[in-house]
Amino acid sequence: MLTDLVAALDIGGTKIAAALVDDRGRVHTRAQRPTPAHEDGDTVMRAVTEVVAQLTVSPLWSSVRAVGIGSAGPVDAVAGTVSPVNVPGWRRYPLVERVASATGGLPVELIGDGVAITAAEHWQGAARGHDNALCMVVSTGVGGGLVLGGRLHPGPTGNAGHIGHISVDLDGDPCPCGARGCVERIASGPNIARRALEGGWRPGADGDASAEAVAVAARAGDPVALASYRRAAQALAAGIAATATLVEIDIAVIGGGVANAGEVLFAPLRRSLRDYAALSFVQRLTVTPAQMGADAGLVGAAAAALSRGAGAAAAGV
Ligand SMILES: [Zn+2]
Repeated sequence: MLTDLVAALDIGGTKIAAALVDDRGRVHTRAQRPTPAHEDGDTVMRAVTEVVAQLTVSPLWSSVRAVGIGSAGPVDAVAGTVSPVNVPGWRRYPLVERVASATGGLPVELIGDGVAITAAEHWQGAARGHDNALCMVVSTGVGGGLVLGGRLHPGPTGNAGHIGHISVDLDGDPCPCGARGCVERIASGPNIARRALEGGWRPGADGDASAEAVAVAARAGDPVALASYRRAAQALAAGIAATATLVEIDIAVIGGGVANAGEVLFAPLRRSLRDYAALSFVQRLTVTPAQMGADAGLVGAAAAALSRGAGAAAAGV
């Protein structure tokens, strides 16, 4: 029996996913398109309206009462606009207004993708029951979000928890964001692979030079591969420890492709945390893998939409 139903959109640099999600976080109808990330803004929007149109033909559509969007950032939840770094055709793009008109005027809630996965992990995943948590995605980029005092903390514009762009290396490499030595510049998948290649690691016969391939080599004991993951873990630990010291989180949840490396990442991460999370009130901090998998963005966007009304208690946001 459905009590509350929302439409959820998960917009990233590679795919645009949409679904109908109920107030228990169950996903009912799905649609997906590749993101035409290098096309003009209207072409990207057309892919969004196509996935929305696929949802509207569902017999459940008449029960949908709001739309939640989790988008690659930066977003501006106040203005209702998005400027995803990897989608140059969208700069201060009025996504909320466009989605509202594509859905016949439904209320639209916009949050950043890091905030969305945080909402999902807090509602149904690894951060459930934790009132103060940092949730992260470590993959092509590094994103994150915060739960503080039992509630999702998107911040005024929907970008709070952007841990990937905290600097942990003061004179480090320039980051595409404009700063230097950011966590993302050291710990993202492409940077793990780049550093391994620079250190002399070479891919196997299949030519796979991804962070996943580096993880396989690390598991087999390759010292350069192990060192690249250790360095990534060190950057993540410094960022997590800084966050814990500022706002007293007690758990950090890490998902995304790089987290799939398992203990190759998590073992040195726990060791490095002991170096950086030194004060008494952060020593109990734990780090754990995410649980929500590929649906985290959709479920989190749904949680944001549900939080507009009676679904808020159910969604825990
Ligand atoms: Zn940066």
